[in-house]
Amino acid sequence: MLAFRKVVEKMEGYVPGEQPQEKGFIKLNTNENPYPPPREVLKALQEKVTPERLALYPPPLSDQLRFKLSEVYGVPPDQIIVGNGSDELLNIIFRAFLGYRSRVAYLYPTYTLYRTLATIQEADYLEIPFQGEDFQQLPSRFLAEEADLKVVCNPNSPTGTFIPMEEIEKLLQSSRCPVVLDEAYVDFAEESALPLLPKYPHLIIVRTLSKSFSLAGLRIGFLFAHSEVVKGLLKLKDSYNVNILSQIAGVAALEGLNQVKENISKIKRTREWFSQALKSLGFQVLPSQANFVFVRSRSYESLEKVYQELKSRKILVRFFPEWKEWLRITIGKDQEMQILLENLKEILGKEWNQGA
Ligand SMILES: *Cc1c(COP(=O)(O)O)cnc(C)c1O
Repeated sequence: MLAFRKVVEKMEGYVPGEQPQEKGFIKLNTNENPYPPPREVLKALQEKVTPERLALYPPPLSDQLRFKLSEVYGVPPDQIIVGNGSDELLNIIFRAFLGYRSRVAYLYPTYTLYRTLATIQEADYLEIPFQGEDFQQLPSRFLAEEADLKVVCNPNSPTGTFIPMEEIEKLLQSSRCPVVLDEAYVDFAEESALPLLPKYPHLIIVRTLSKSFSLAGLRIGFLFAHSEVVKGLLKLKDSYNVNILSQIAGVAALEGLNQVKENISKIKRTREWFSQALKSLGFQVLPSQANFVFVRSRSYESLEKVYQELKSRKILVRFFPEWKEWLRITIGKDQEMQILLENLKEILGKEWNQGA
C-alpha cells in the first residue's frame, strides 16, 4: 500500500451532510437557504461571463469582490481575504497557526471540521464543553487556556446558540493567541463581533455567502483581520482560489443586499413559530440565532429512527452520530416546516402507541 502520513491513515475524514441527487426531497440538513439569491446574481452571470473572461485566470485577490465587501462592511480592503468557501479560509488559518503538537482550543459541541483540520496539522485539540444547559457562556477554562489558536463558532453549530459580545470581549482580553470567530450564521443573529475588530489585532472573523446569501453552490467565503495577519495568511492561499464566476456573482449578491435581508427576516419568522410548534410537540428546542434549530425529545435516547423515518418520507434533517439524542433542522419555507411537523406528529404518534 502507499504510505500515507500516519495521521492521514488513522483519521476518519470530515463527513459532510448528505446531498441527495434525486429530486423531491425537503432538504433541511445542511443549512442552505430555501430562497433564491438576489436577482442581480444571475443577471450579472449572464451579462459579464464572456469566453475571454473564462479563458483567463481570475484576479488572484478577488479585487472587485474585496472592494465591494469593504464598502458594505466598512473594513479596509487590506484587511479582507476572499476564499473558496469559508472552509478554505479556516483551512488556511489552521495551517498558518498550527503544527505538530501545537494546541487549538474550541468549545464542544461545535463544527466538527475544526477537529479534522487540527488532526491534519498533527496539532492537539482541546474540546472544552460548554457549561450548563444554555450554551451561552464561555467556560472560564476556555478563557484561561494557553493555546496557539482559539476558535469560537458564533452562532454555534450545531446548537444554534449565541454567545453575547461581552463574553467574546472577555475572551479577546484574556487570550494572546489568534482568536477565530466563525460567523457563518451571524446574519441570522442580533449582533456581530465586527465592531471589535479595530480594537483587537488578534481577532479573525470568518464569514460566508453560503447561508444568508443563498450561494452555497458558488463557494464564497471571506475573512476580516488585521492587515499584518492578512499578509501572513495570504502566503498560504492558492494563487487563484476563487473562480471568476464566483467573483462576479459575489459582487452582484452584495448589490442585492435588500433581498437578502428580506429572506433573513422570513427565515427568522419561520424559526420562531416552528420552534414554538416543536415545543408543543414535547421537544426541547435550544434558543437559536441561526437558520436552524437543535432539538431533542426527553422520551428518546436516540433520534436516529426518527431521522431514518423522516428520510424514508423524503424529508432530510441532520442526525449526528456524535449527538444521538439530537436532530439539527434547517429552517426552510413555512410550507416545508408544516409538512415536517405533520410527519413528525405521525411518526411520534406511532412510536408512542407502540410503547416506545
Ligand atoms: C456552513 C459552515 C461553514 C462553511 O461555509 P462555506 O463558506 O460554505 O465553506 C463554516 N463554518 C460553519 C460553522 C458552517 O456551518
